[in-house]
Amino acid sequence: MTQKQPHHSIADNYQQVLASIRSQEDRFHRPADSVHLLTVSKTHDADKVRQAYVAGARDFGENYVQEALDKITALAQSPQPLNDATWHFIGPIQSNKTRDIAGEFAWVHSVDRLKIAQRLNDQRPDNLPPLNVCVQVNLSNEDSKSGVPLDAAESLCANIAAMPRLQLRGLMAIPAPCAEHEQQRKAFQPLHAAFKELQQRHPTMDTLSIGMSNDFAAAIAEGSTMIRVGTAIFGARS
Ligand SMILES: *Cc1c(COP(=O)(O)O)cnc(C)c1O
Repeated sequence: MTQKQPHHSIADNYQQVLASIRSQEDRFHRPADSVHLLTVSKTHDADKVRQAYVAGARDFGENYVQEALDKITALAQSPQPLNDATWHFIGPIQSNKTRDIAGEFAWVHSVDRLKIAQRLNDQRPDNLPPLNVCVQVNLSNEDSKSGVPLDAAESLCANIAAMPRLQLRGLMAIPAPCAEHEQQRKAFQPLHAAFKELQQRHPTMDTLSIGMSNDFAAAIAEGSTMIRVGTAIFGARS
């Protein structure tokens, strides 16, 4: 074992998260490489995004439209443009922001209303492939949180599957924070079950977007195919 250093670089952290994903896949009898890492770069500047890119990150998650657009522009113009980066919008969606999201992102993980889906479908530029969409589900049924209740996800998925400029890819959720592994797994279980059922009806659904810095092992145990990690790669957000 190498000795722990007081400061870890973004590259070290990124490699460590990747290694941890591979070991959790093994531990929970998931196929090797079946869990994808989405690097959540919200609040971190373009220079830090570039450090993660150099370490191997290609998928980036952002929550705030204007912040993301500034970063995407800066990184596309810099001497070594990040041409093969894929941008995922993972934050709450206001309807006056759908045009920017439809034009600048490849994925949206946080669709939770029909009206937003319709606007994204209408506004997705014709020269781009369909926008990849996950439906966000509210697992804790708190009024304050984003996401559709689990029993409303089926109908929203069916509507999105019929939209030509959207590609229905899966479900996303952010459970209430909880420190204990078994409790974390329990929170994910109803979503995992619903996902498997919906997949029968909609074969394009290949993505279960669950798991963040503090609960990705439990998410991998419960079928996650894409974990969204910020803090464990970049350190705490200010
Ligand atoms: C911020 C955020 C993350 C990353 O959370 P960490 O705990 O920093 O890993 C993941 N998903 C969403 C939707 C987020 O807003």
